[in-house]
This record gives sequence, structure tokens and C-alpha cells, in this order.
Amino acid sequence: MTRIAVVEREKCNPEGCGDFLCIRVCPVNRMGEECIVKSEGKVAINEELCTGCGICPHRCPFEAISIINLPEELDQDPIHRYGQNGFHLYNLPTPIFGKVVGILGKNGIGKSTAIKVLASILKPNLGKDKEADYDSLIDYFKGSEAQIFFEKLKEQKIKVAYKPQQVELIPKTQKGTVKDLLKKVDEKKELDKISRLLSIDKILDHNIKDISGGELQRVAIAATVLKKANLYIFDEPTSYLDIKQRLKVAKFIKELADENTAVLVVEHDLIILDYMTDLVHLMYGKPSVYGIVSLPKTTKAGINVYLSGFLREQNVRFRDYEIRFETKPPTPKRSDHILTSWQGITKKFGSFSLKADKGEIFKDDVIGILGENGIGKTSFVRILAEQAKPDKGQVDTKVTVSYKPQYLEADSDELVMTVLQKAITKYTNQLINPLDIKPLLMRKLSELSGGELQRVSIALCLGNDAQLYLLDEPSAYLDVEQRLRLGKIIGEFIEQKGASALIVDHDLLFIDYISKDLIVFDGEPAISGECKGPFNMETGMSMFLKDLGITFRRDEESHRPRTNKLDSVKDREQKKKNKYYYS
Ligand code: SF4
Ligand code: SF4
Repeated sequence: MTRIAVVEREKCNPEGCGDFLCIRVCPVNRMGEECIVKSEGKVAINEELCTGCGICPHRCPFEAISIINLPEELDQDPIHRYGQNGFHLYNLPTPIFGKVVGILGKNGIGKSTAIKVLASILKPNLGKDKEADYDSLIDYFKGSEAQIFFEKLKEQKIKVAYKPQQVELIPKTQKGTVKDLLKKVDEKKELDKISRLLSIDKILDHNIKDISGGELQRVAIAATVLKKANLYIFDEPTSYLDIKQRLKVAKFIKELADENTAVLVVEHDLIILDYMTDLVHLMYGKPSVYGIVSLPKTTKAGINVYLSGFLREQNVRFRDYEIRFETKPPTPKRSDHILTSWQGITKKFGSFSLKADKGEIFKDDVIGILGENGIGKTSFVRILAEQAKPDKGQVDTKVTVSYKPQYLEADSDELVMTVLQKAITKYTNQLINPLDIKPLLMRKLSELSGGELQRVSIALCLGNDAQLYLLDEPSAYLDVEQRLRLGKIIGEFIEQKGASALIVDHDLLFIDYISKDLIVFDGEPAISGECKGPFNMETGMSMFLKDLGITFRRDEESHRPRTNKLDSVKDREQKKKNKYYYS
């Protein structure tokens, strides 16, 4: 069995643990050998001497050490290791010409490392101290599709174009208008066509620093495909996009693959991943410690395996529960207790007008809210949260509300522990532990990543005493695993509290998983929006999907929703029966 010892150097704090605690407790060190040694102010572990007794990872107060016994089947060297006791990556996803290949897994599991290797940004070291040459890589992958890929890479026959994950960083390095930026990379001379296809033709003269997150995402995608390449890699191409835009981008990416072009995509929205890819690689392991890339599977099978949490061939359980979906639309058990209601609301925000006729929220309900960007969802939520007053109409305000905004601000130097005092005291088991906030407690808010801040904000919102919880885009920045876990956490929390929740989100699988009822927003972005509902899931989803012109069926195995291929037999049948949600 292969054993690896990983030290997360940023977590290791020898002063905080009482002067190299691990060195003092390691039984091998106590016998006089140098199993754990000091190294540049932190520690290093000699894997040859380590017996795997498990004492040091257990005793380190900062969870900086992981001693892992890898699955026996994994009898190979890593494709890359970040130095002694650093993150190990095993295997690589394989780009295939003519196909869109997806990568599915948690954050921190090595997706970006794998992409960088394929894009030739990072030269892998095969777990050794120096970079491997192409011949050793070809040898490493002998007999697999990856062998062909590295042979082509060696012959310089692969040209890669890569869309990075964090599009919000683009304005920091790029100046000028959208058109200036795209012109610089337009090797194909297709700027007009691609801008139209991605609906950014109307913002070409806008300055990069003034455009929204969703626009920036589409500009980044355009900049990638305007380059002449035969391997296109997209790291999270749907963040900041609403569902209409997600579907459009998914269709666009799908159509890129042909016999001379391979496409790789990392995506956390499972409905979109399902829609756009032919094959997927699952990635599993322990974040920041090691990641293993599975062999490719058909997308349908791969997503089902992912939801089941168990990889049969490798005999690996990577989640201790299975994600299940309802086979039928849930028939919500309505309590008769109306929590809040509204009537005849109208509100003008500049030139945008919002309307919400009549609706009510019952106790014990989780209501999803769907609609395009710029159509008034957040404004409506703010009216319910009493952060904005309607011009006309009224909201029953006898309800206490806790609100998590869409955009999270974190310029404060306060510690997470201070901010979450209430949640820590009352809900350690319901919120702090399942949201994995413990490792963040001693960090400052201003130091958190997008996903970490999102989890803290959710705990903060749910930790407040309230009857109605309003969460605006809670899935943003979260990886697929965290989204699914969040669905479970919110559902259980609301049920235990006997409260209700409104969840605005663009990830349809997440909404399908979490909601009992649905509110749908209709209208024209930036001009007018109308709030309709709440409806039961079948009515609400049908209304929403009809507007998008797509139909959903249930996967026979996992019962998750899947998009029917446009104009397929099922799509036509369901449209004829006016059943857009379930067949
Ligand atoms: Fe201390 Fe943990 Fe670092 Fe060892 S790994 S020196 S126990 S902080
Ligand atoms: Fe020492 Fe290895 Fe035991 Fe840690 S797990 S205390 S390094 S023998």
C-alpha cells in the first residue's frame, strides 16, 4: 500500500502548537530517527520512515498534516507532486478530438493542476524532484488516449486556448473596451460572429471595468474561442450567468468540438455539465492533499456515480451518503400557517419597474426563485426583507427575516469566529460542522476566498433568529459537492426550525433538489419584471422551462432532472403534452 504524507505549509504554525508538537510526539522521532524534521520554519516528513501510526495528524491543532494510505489499485507514481510532502495528483483527464470532456469534482482536488499540465503551463514531475520530459510522459501513459495526446504535444501539434476560472480578475490586467480586448486575440477574424453568438455584440464599446460579471464571463469565453487552437479548455464557464445564458453558452461550447478540435470543461452546474459534455472524469481524494482522476465515463453514468458517492471499480467511497432526487414532483404538505403575504406590489428602481401581484408564504416551506439576471429577483427579496419599501401595495411585516445578499462584502478584518458567535453557540452541529467552517474560524473575513465567504455568509444568515430566511444565490462560488451538501443542510435546518426559506439561484439542479415550491420571474431584463407564484414545483418549473423552450426528464437511475435534446422524440412528446418538467 502506498502511503503519502502531506504537510499543508500555510496551516503549519510551530509557534501556535507549542514548538513543533508533531516532532515531539512522533514515536519514530522518539526512537531517535528523523521522521519529522524542521524545514524552513515548518516541518517535513520522511515517508520512508513514517509508520502511519496516525498520531501527528491527530495531535496537530491546525490540521496541517495528512497521512494517507492510498487505494491499493493505485499502484502508480503521481503525475505531479508539489515538492516533498506537497499535493499529489494521480492521472490526468484526457482530451478527445470531436468530444467535449467534463471534469467533475470538489475544489482543491487538483482540477486546475490537471488543466495546467494539459495546457503546457505546468511541466509535471511524475512525483520526482525534476520536470519530466515528453518521452517519460508518453511512457507513463502508454496504451491510453493520453499517450496520443502527449505524442501530439511533443510534436507541437496541440495548440491550447484556455479560459481561466476567475473572470473577475480580468479588469485588473486588461484596460480599454471589450472590442479592444477581443481584437487583440482575434486570430480567426470572427469577432462579429462570435460576439453575436454570445450576445455581447451590444457591449463591444463598453469599458472592461464597467461590465457585469455575466458579461465578463462571456467576453472571456469569446476571447478564448477567437484564438486558433485545437484544444479549448473552459474552467467554470457558467459562473455569473443566469440559466438562459448558461444554456446558450453550453450549446456554444458543445458545437466547438469537431474531428480536429477537443474541448475540456470544468463545471459545477450538473444540468449544464450533463447538457454540454459527452464524457466526464470524476476527481476524488482529499482537497489540498491528493487528487485522483478516474477513467472517463459517459456523462450520464459519470454523474450518477458521482451522486451515488461510490466508485465501484476502484472500491472507493468518496461521500458517506448518496444524493437522491424525488421521482415525482413533491406534493408539499402545506401547513395552514401563513407566514407572510403580499398584495399589489409595484416598485420603480430608476427606469426598472417591478410588479408582484399576490402571494403568500407558508410555514415550513422552501421556495425556489427562478428568473433571468436583471429582472427584479433581488429587489423583490429586498422588499420582503424590508430593505426597500414598495411604491404601492403591501407586505405583511409581522414576520422576522434574515437575509443573505447576492454580493458579499468582506473588507472587514474581523475574525470569522467573532462574526459567527451566535451560530457557533447554537448551531455547531447544524451549520458550523456541515458547512466545514471550523478551519476558517481563526481567519479574517477579508482573507477568505469566494467559496469560503459564501459558506460563512450562509451560516451567518441561518444563525440569526428569524421566521423567514432569504438566501440570494447561495450556490455561487461553491463547488458541486458543496452545493449538494448545502441543499441538504438548508432543508434539514428549515425543517428543524419550523421556519421557511426563499432561495434565489440559477443552478436548476440545486433548485430542484432544495425547493418544495417555486416563484418564477418574468419580464425584460433592466426594463420590467413580474413576480409570479409561489406555485407547486410542477406548475412553476413547467412555466419556467416553457419560456426557455426546453423540457426536463428524470434520469431513470438517480431521478435527477436532465435536459432533453432539443427536438428529440421525448422533447417533442413532452411539449405536445405540455409537460415541460416531468415526462
Ligand atoms: Fe505544529 Fe502542526 Fe506544524 Fe507540526 S504540523 S509543527 S504540530 S503546527
Ligand atoms: Fe510519525 Fe508518521 Fe506517526 Fe506522524 S504518522 S507520528 S510522522 S510515524
